[in-house]
Amino acid sequence: LEKILKELGEVEVYDRTSYEESPLIAERIGDAEIVVINKTPVSRETMDKCENIKLIAVLATGYNVVDYAYAKEKGIPVVNVPTYGTQIVGQYALGLLLEICSHYGHHDECVKEGKWENNPDWCFWDYPMIELYGKTAGIIGLGRIGQATAKLLNALDMEVIAYDAHESEAGKKLAEYVSLDELFARSDVIFLHCPLFPATEGIINKENIAKMKDGVVIINTSRGTNVDEAALLAALESGKVRAAGLDVWAEEPAKNVALYSHPRVSCTPHIGAATQEAQARIGTEIVSVIESFFA
Ligand code: NAD
Repeated sequence: LEKILKELGEVEVYDRTSYEESPLIAERIGDAEIVVINKTPVSRETMDKCENIKLIAVLATGYNVVDYAYAKEKGIPVVNVPTYGTQIVGQYALGLLLEICSHYGHHDECVKEGKWENNPDWCFWDYPMIELYGKTAGIIGLGRIGQATAKLLNALDMEVIAYDAHESEAGKKLAEYVSLDELFARSDVIFLHCPLFPATEGIINKENIAKMKDGVVIINTSRGTNVDEAALLAALESGKVRAAGLDVWAEEPAKNVALYSHPRVSCTPHIGAATQEAQARIGTEIVSVIESFFA
């Protein structure tokens, strides 16, 4: 990416800056015209300090690290890479669910530790397991990734329902659109695939969890704060939520020890799109966006 960008203009690269607000961010942006970031936030204060910014390019799909409302006010376009991780995040979200259904990692350890060999019975498993066939999956946000997940869930013969603020013809072919309350009432598994917007922040909260089926499974690969982590933990403890698969966290790196240590939480460090293929795509796609901006 650095090499290709250098063909377009003067480039300064900082491997690590900060994923929290810091004066270092404005200092490093300085008088640059184009800012390329991943998890480094660009706040109102930073935009006010760095008056030369003409474009903010986010090397990710979710662009909530930028105060995009203020950028719009200042006339600074914010661009993201919307499609680099579409298929892989769908695959990853299903993977989290499959791990919850069968606990592959745990059973692998059990065999290697000799627990099966030393078990008095031939049959050995450590968790009650879940079959997905015929169960209902509810997707909140049936956009690119939501549709990729829906295709996989249809292949498992699950009933797929979805809630989205904007329904699409492509979505209708993959899922039955329902209201949010109907999705909560009918789903055995809920996938969060909506962006972090004011309307989606805390969409999984105490009030909405109460509307869900007992024993529901929640998978979140969207953004951490779409889930109220305290409410999710309480629901895991009460058994209302059977299990959760979490790749994203309110604070990252995750600091919510009680949540990530919960025995019915399968967790990962925000790696839903971390394949080499997807990372290569991010570079080429952002360059074409920057080139379009120049054009
Ligand atoms: P997208 O824009 O294609 O789809 C998002 C969908 O959410 C759209 O259909 C939109 O209409 C819908 N939506 C908007 N507001 C809503 C609301 N209030 N309620 C319900 N639905 C609403 O985006 P995408 O490519 O599918 O990505 C979705 C999100 O996935 C990203 O914003 C990002 O936060 C997350 N993501 C995570 C990873 C990861 O590594 N875990 C990687 C890439 C993307």
